[in-house]
Amino acid sequence: MKKTSRRKDYRALHETKLKESFSKSESNYEAPKKLLKFDSKAEKHVLKVRFLPNKNPDDFPFSQIKSHNIYIGPDTYHFITCGQSTSGTCPICEFNRGLDDETVKKSRLYATKKYYSNVLVISDSVNPDNNGKVMVLEYSQTTQNFLMEMLKGDEEMDEKPSYYYDLEHGSTIVIKKEGIRINTKYIMKALKPEALDEDLDDMIFAEIEDTKKFGLQLNKIASNDEKMLQDYKHFLETADII
Ligand SMILES: [Zn+2]
Repeated sequence: MKKTSRRKDYRALHETKLKESFSKSESNYEAPKKLLKFDSKAEKHVLKVRFLPNKNPDDFPFSQIKSHNIYIGPDTYHFITCGQSTSGTCPICEFNRGLDDETVKKSRLYATKKYYSNVLVISDSVNPDNNGKVMVLEYSQTTQNFLMEMLKGDEEMDEKPSYYYDLEHGSTIVIKKEGIRINTKYIMKALKPEALDEDLDDMIFAEIEDTKKFGLQLNKIASNDEKMLQDYKHFLETADII
């Protein structure tokens, strides 16, 4: 059967760009329905997903967004997108630079990285209603590291780079979250590469999002927001951090 032209050769599109980037660098909102997150309260949460390309086929299949999670009072947090992910400057990071490392660590107000990717949910152990849907997965640096290792491959181990999000040659990825809070750990495994059923293409291409845009809309944007910076300073003072 002839494959539809929407299926791109992601290796051809991304190989050079990825090599370049590898050589350079070694809640208080109502979540949108499409957001898929690990359940922070569940002792175990297993997601079997097929990662998908980004809306714009030229873009990498993930977006990294840095955010500050600021405690401003009992049960009240600001989830703020770090300005480094938007304008390039961040009033909160700038303020942090004036503090010593210990204080920044204690306040837990450093920017943390989150990743967003389109996925087809094969199975969700906590919310089986998600099975079969195209959603946007929010995941951690640990999972991102695992996926990047797949993309790099390992010549010495005779492992070719795996374009895990390719509709033809990709693989289902299993991510198991165990434990809660600081005891949380993630275990990842890639299943055997397998082409996705082409009958799913209409649904997939209609549903995939621009993951950067999607991730940014989840949080407040920090760009020069005076009020937010005031809340932040107020928190540091009242919590006796500075
Ligand atoms: Zn920042």
